Amino acid sequence: MAMPLAREWVGIQQFPVATQNKLVELLGKLKGENVDTLTILVMGKGGVGKSSTVNSLLGERVAAVSAFQSEGLRPMMCSRTRAGFTLNIIDTPGIVEGGYINEQALDIIKRFLLNKTIDVLLFVERLDAYRVDSLDKQVVKSITETFGKAIWNRSVLVLTHAQLSPPDGLSYEDFFTRRSDTVLRYMCLGAGIRRKEFVANPIPVVLVENSGRCRTNELGEKVLPDGTTWIPNLVKVIVEVVSNGSEPIVVDQKLIDGPNPNNWGKRFIPLILAFQYLFVIKSIKGSIQKDMESERIPAWELRDRGLAKGKF
Ligand code: GDP
Ligand code: MG
Repeated sequence: MAMPLAREWVGIQQFPVATQNKLVELLGKLKGENVDTLTILVMGKGGVGKSSTVNSLLGERVAAVSAFQSEGLRPMMCSRTRAGFTLNIIDTPGIVEGGYINEQALDIIKRFLLNKTIDVLLFVERLDAYRVDSLDKQVVKSITETFGKAIWNRSVLVLTHAQLSPPDGLSYEDFFTRRSDTVLRYMCLGAGIRRKEFVANPIPVVLVENSGRCRTNELGEKVLPDGTTWIPNLVKVIVEVVSNGSEPIVVDQKLIDGPNPNNWGKRFIPLILAFQYLFVIKSIKGSIQKDMESERIPAWELRDRGLAKGKF
């Protein structure tokens, strides 16, 4: 497939030198492992900060950010190169519309990704949200049905709006733990990940603050209330996920077509037909035959066949 021309990643120069150095080091680590392309898919509900996170990560305004729901339906891929390394980031529209999963949006995302390989999924949520409803679980279920359960081995939970003061006297760490546990729980339910599986392959959680008012440290790097320099931390976790031994997700026609229940059922059509022939049609045929044999031939038919000449 023709990849769009990747532009030089100029946005990296927007970061303070300390951040730049960490990023170059992390990408260098990947190159050392013979990885020279990274494709990151960003998904989640609308308004959680997907586009803002894409912009923060690239240091460029490539994705349209909106405080209101006007995202459109098309995903957007942005490619940047730096010292022989290509970074592709795919921003997607939220897949929830009017209280339901927007199947059309999902379908467009799927088709957009055809022939691409997803190295990492950033599943985005807000840290400063308190409620979880059944739709949240449904979003994860839809992603799982679209790309397969294995996508969660390649995922990072990103919690935006991380610069907050927790309510009710909770410490920042306690608040973070409660919120991330809540989100991880519904993710596991939606993806069908069992406790044992999660313990063996936990989904890492990363905090993000996209606001221009994010505090900075003495080196000018953006820091969170817990002191983390979040941009290098996000990239560090992405690199860890890429190196965790799991396979990236190859989006081919097979993945796009199946395993939807309609197609799944189609495989059984020949079997059902054979069954029908053997047990239903054959036995009906047999009984018709029997009926025909045992049936007394009516007089009018004998007459028509010329068998009862003398009788009329
Ligand atoms: P998307 O619909 O998921 O792509 O969300 P957007 O990136 O368009 O963001 C929705 C709104 O939330 C915009 O007004 C953003 O400025 C705001 N926003 C996104 N991330 C953050 C964040 O980390 N902190 C704060 N304070 N605002 C954010
Ligand atoms: Mg957006």
